[in-house]
Amino acid sequence: MTDPIIEHAVDMESKRFGLKKPMVRYDTQGEMSDAERVKKAMQHFAKDFGYVAATYMESCVHCGICANACHFYVTTGDPKYTPIWKIEPFKQAYKREAGPFAFFYKLFNLKHKVTVEELEAWQELIYDSCTMCGRCTLACPMSIDIASLVGMARHAMFHAGLVPHELWAVALKAEEEGSPLGANPKVFKERIRWMEDEHEVDMYIDKEQADILVCMSSIEIQKYPKSMADTAKVLNYLGLSWTFHTEGYEATNFGLLSGNLDWQKDMSQKIIDTAIKIKAKTVLLPECGHAYQAMRWHGANMYGQSLPFTVVHISEFLADAVEQGKLKLRTVGKTAAFHDPCQVSRRGGATQAPRKIIEALGIELREPASSGDFNWCCGGGGGVITIHRADELRYKAMELKLKQMDSTRAHLMLTSCSNCRQNFDDSGEHLAWGRKIESLLELVADNLIEDK
Ligand code: SF4
Ligand code: SF4
Repeated sequence: MTDPIIEHAVDMESKRFGLKKPMVRYDTQGEMSDAERVKKAMQHFAKDFGYVAATYMESCVHCGICANACHFYVTTGDPKYTPIWKIEPFKQAYKREAGPFAFFYKLFNLKHKVTVEELEAWQELIYDSCTMCGRCTLACPMSIDIASLVGMARHAMFHAGLVPHELWAVALKAEEEGSPLGANPKVFKERIRWMEDEHEVDMYIDKEQADILVCMSSIEIQKYPKSMADTAKVLNYLGLSWTFHTEGYEATNFGLLSGNLDWQKDMSQKIIDTAIKIKAKTVLLPECGHAYQAMRWHGANMYGQSLPFTVVHISEFLADAVEQGKLKLRTVGKTAAFHDPCQVSRRGGATQAPRKIIEALGIELREPASSGDFNWCCGGGGGVITIHRADELRYKAMELKLKQMDSTRAHLMLTSCSNCRQNFDDSGEHLAWGRKIESLLELVADNLIEDK
């Protein structure tokens, strides 16, 4: 197996010394023959062929509109990044194995069997160059949900042991230790106590009963821990019954991102079981786009029935509190551009929530072209930020994003996703952006009017 970390280092060195860049190689997991890998992939593609996926497969009119919706195609001009092309082996497998003319396709060999080489080449297309942002889905005149099909394709790739190594490794770590970035329960607890001291705010953990179970993302716990203190500050300000809990706190779901449904279920189940145990009425999700997608839109499917609590993203929660007049905020009085996290706005439907908060802060929102539901993705979601060999592609996508943000000439750059924030920090440094993106939650917590 190629070690991606070594490959990345070689790549960096090559650039430094003007050496030729080595070919991108592909990662594999498990000992399997090529034939077995293909068989496993095909079996799992076939498993996902429900009527919805079949309808999508049959509906494409090959107009190519989706290409110009994808940040990876637009910034590279490379036709292989055309969204519908990313699901081509899935499509071929469907036509040959499950479509209405499958018999003829097989009889006359009109569609050749998918090969392991095609699957290997495909790894880059469905992992490195798709954030499952859904912009192509919104642009498609036939409403083909390419982002969901990519998600389904990842299930098959996982079973075939064809996942980019870093993404697979963090998913395994999350499954085994409870967090992809080492924020295990002990670390989580220690960081809560640290933030409690540092910010002089009461932070509750492992309460036996509470109305709100508060979850965090590992990026926040490890890289932006102030957001934990700020969440506590807001909840205390509102006088609510809430708790963090060491049995269910990690909101990110690398089972979902890597394509392993069993792990996805395990990760969701921890939060669901904890919420039920403490009789929570609400699970409050942090500034993390994929966490919202995993619990808000996949949670009930993982549980097998309706969730006995509501699931709310922190921006929805803050917007509700503002609307109800419970959250009094100081007027910040500047201009801001807001980066919509794809999984919260376009894919999640909570596009207006951050706008209400920004208005309540007395900030003039400057919307660039293609904002809101048609916002450009930052290029780091869907697990892409974990894949080192995708760095150059991610930076290219970020160039487009930064141009969009800069076009507003706003004072503040805001977002409500810690993964996007991390991507802005990393890419912004690489591209010498000279600006910082800020958390909307942190801005709210810093501007609470204490004397209600
Ligand atoms: S979901 Fe986003 S990243 Fe993936 S193909 Fe569509 S536009 Fe591109
Ligand atoms: S926009 Fe839709 S119909 Fe057109 S090529 Fe893309 S997936 Fe097919």
